[in-house]
Amino acid sequence: MREILIRHSALRLHSRNAAVMIRPILQLGNPALRKKSVPVQEFNWDLKCLADDLEDTLTDAKQRYGYGRGIAAPQIGELKRVVFIDTPDFRSVLVNPTITTLSPATFEVWDSCFSFDVSFFVLVDRLWNIKVDYVDLKGNRQALEAKGDLSELLQHEVDHLDGVLATDRMKNKKAIMVRVEWEKAFKPK
Ligand SMILES: [Zn+2]
Repeated sequence: MREILIRHSALRLHSRNAAVMIRPILQLGNPALRKKSVPVQEFNWDLKCLADDLEDTLTDAKQRYGYGRGIAAPQIGELKRVVFIDTPDFRSVLVNPTITTLSPATFEVWDSCFSFDVSFFVLVDRLWNIKVDYVDLKGNRQALEAKGDLSELLQHEVDHLDGVLATDRMKNKKAIMVRVEWEKAFKPK
């Protein structure tokens, strides 16, 4: 009995599930958002904790903002090449993702970001069809082909790993709308 209790308490000590870790999201103007993140070399406990923090922070932000399908590690101040995607069709942590263009076709997207406090949207061009090579949390290589919504989301998140923000990709100086105007014009009813 005693041994079981001890093992249980040891498990609790090492269980990251006991606490939800919502991290502050860095905002436009913070220099860390402009830095290039470094590739992950070790698939260890620290990486698992970072992945859990990204998941908790995205889940919280989705509830607060009413938007959001992805988050990148530099947005919570960790300059590592890790993103977490959470859409109805695809949900995963992507480590060291790299994008390959499958077609030159592009499309226009009104894009926003938690790091803009989702207070405005900018019009950008994104590639329609891409392939993303990445490594999963277990260290296994994976490949994903994405089109449309998922494609532009992945491009947005991988941009974060290179210190690039959606505002850098604005089609022109007028391609910007505050959230309330964007919602009037485009939000699905
Ligand atoms: Zn973003």
